[in-house]
Amino acid sequence: MTARILDGAAVALQIRRELSVRAAEFTRRAGRRPGLSIVLVGDKPDSQIYVNSKLKSAGDEGMDATLSHLPASTSLGEILALVDRLNADPAIDGILVQAPLPESLGTAAMQKVFDTIDPAKDVDGVTPENVGRLVQNRADLVACTPAGIMELLKRSGIDPAGKHAVVIGRSDIVGKPVALLLLHRHATVTVCHSRTQDLPAMAATADILVAALGRPGFVRRPFVKPGATVIDVGINVVTDRQVAYSIFHEGHPRRGLFDRKGSVLVGDVHPEAAEVAGALTPVPGGVGPLTIAMLMANTIRAAELRLAGGR
Ligand code: NAP
Repeated sequence: MTARILDGAAVALQIRRELSVRAAEFTRRAGRRPGLSIVLVGDKPDSQIYVNSKLKSAGDEGMDATLSHLPASTSLGEILALVDRLNADPAIDGILVQAPLPESLGTAAMQKVFDTIDPAKDVDGVTPENVGRLVQNRADLVACTPAGIMELLKRSGIDPAGKHAVVIGRSDIVGKPVALLLLHRHATVTVCHSRTQDLPAMAATADILVAALGRPGFVRRPFVKPGATVIDVGINVVTDRQVAYSIFHEGHPRRGLFDRKGSVLVGDVHPEAAEVAGALTPVPGGVGPLTIAMLMANTIRAAELRLAGGR
């Protein structure tokens, strides 16, 4: 069997076309464009790449997106004061503080920032209020990657109801929220993590397997039940030749890419999983584009809700 490829890039394009129409309608009614404000602290190169693609996408969809780029030396108090100003700014509908913050700010800093964002503007779905609403299945704003996974399943005709879903990873931003969303869609959900015993056997019971652990090519053939849907969330930049060669066989186009560039983007799922899976998201071009599309969807949703609520 060769897995059907779930083309996240194509689904994201479809979603973004729909969002452009909603953004134009909002602009007509509100007399201004939906406003997204992104806060970036420090100069982490991959964070800058993510932020730039979010800003570009927002512009393409007819939104006003602004970036506050602060130096790595910024204090937590200054970041929280900026978030407070954005909370109070009527032209801003969505606030995203790019994770991670510089390590020098300490491990609790990100949580303090999340606690400060106005839940009505929380387009990353990270505030305690929105996470609580997610638990209760009444969330308006849900973390973008999990929301994107659910949208991809829906638009690919894959219904989680009655299926066994196994999620590998229990982070606040991916593993836990996607497990809750699958549960709300009536899947029976198992969440696995680094202490899970006999992970391959557990994973191999999944009808829907979500790999969100951040280990390149970790999910190999024995993890996959024949015909299962495999969602590869991992984004790992591999620069080690031995690792790259253990994932991509000789003649594989991505091994060629590694040879030319010295690095290659790899998911958490090994390419051999495609021999047994029924459906599979590629990396790149799977979950990644949906994450950005759902950030745009959340921004428009937040704008529409604020307009309806007279805020
Ligand atoms: P994270 O916060 O580092 O969490 C990783 C999770 O995986 C943890 O729960 C950890 O278990 C578990 N884990 C790690 N090694 C494991 C192992 N050997 N066996 C079983 N479980 C293991 O990562 P994250 O933020 O959720 O991100 C996960 C991956 O998704 C990363 O590659 C990240 O770059 C990618 N990502 C992609 C997108 C996208 O748009 N496509 C968005 C966000 C993240 P413990 O809890 O026990 O430590």
